[in-house]
Amino acid sequence: MADKYYDYLIVGSGLFGATFAYKAHQAGKRCLVIDKRPHLGGNIYCEEVEGINVHKYGAHIFHTSNKTVWQFVNSIVAFNRYTNSPVANYQGKLYNLPFNMNTFYQMWGVCTPDEAQRIIDQQRHEALAHMDGEPQNLEEQALSLVGRDIYERLIKGYTEKQWGRPCTELPAFIIKRLPVRMVFDNNYFNDDYQGIPIGGYNKLIDGLLEGIETRTGVDFFKERSYWEAQARQIVFTG
Ligand SMILES: Cc1cc2nc3c(=O)[nH]c(=O)nc-3n(C[C@H](O)[C@H](O)[C@H](O)COP(=O)(O)OP(=O)(O)OC[C@H]3O[C@@H](n4cnc5c(N)ncnc54)[C@H](O)[C@@H]3O)c2cc1C
Repeated sequence: MADKYYDYLIVGSGLFGATFAYKAHQAGKRCLVIDKRPHLGGNIYCEEVEGINVHKYGAHIFHTSNKTVWQFVNSIVAFNRYTNSPVANYQGKLYNLPFNMNTFYQMWGVCTPDEAQRIIDQQRHEALAHMDGEPQNLEEQALSLVGRDIYERLIKGYTEKQWGRPCTELPAFIIKRLPVRMVFDNNYFNDDYQGIPIGGYNKLIDGLLEGIETRTGVDFFKERSYWEAQARQIVFTG
């Protein structure tokens, strides 16, 4: 049998596949990256719409506490200094997420963790008093963990939209805990480094895959034996 041409066939051109290919290529390995989507980049792929980089598969913020990882991605493309601090709009009023002292100030006008904790505990106990034993559904679970105000304003609508049904029809185990931050900190992530590539994620992927053969619109499983014959090793990342 003829020698296989590639050292690695990398299935999937997302962040994992592209990084693997970059490192293998640097180590002198012959790589081919394939992806079944019509573009490279996997979930971080961006589309330019009227001059705006739109994250086609949902917003992505790169975050890590690993300095080596951060330096690595910044060696490929410059990142901006973006801090993810989402805001929820409930009936026209804005609340910071994840729930923290800023949220509790917006909700109840309280300024100290003790005041916030007292209100949460009071609402939790009220909810538990109306329950017959353990929480029977997601609504009861959330009420028992954080009380009515946080549940109704910041959990209920979002959860029902995501799952497509009422919280009373969802099982309690979906939510195990609801972290409550008793500090004034709107930063969604706890990592030391976070940001978005300046010019979009495609620049990161293009930089990683520079000089590496790629093919898009190709599903590995549709011609598996053909692809397996091309490379000594298959790296599946899908
Ligand atoms: C909406 C959303 C938001 C997210 N936000 C964040 C965030 O803010 N921060 C964060 O750190 N992470 C976030 N993530 C997770 C993030 O997407 C991943 O950590 C990362 O992008 C995954 O990279 P990956 O290479 O492992 O997979 P992917 O990006 O999924 O790439 C896998 C690729 O494999 C391809 N593939 C699969 N099967 C085949 C096949 N049979 N043949 C050929 N190709 C195939 C797919 O088409 C895909 O392009 C988010 C995820 C989603 C869905």
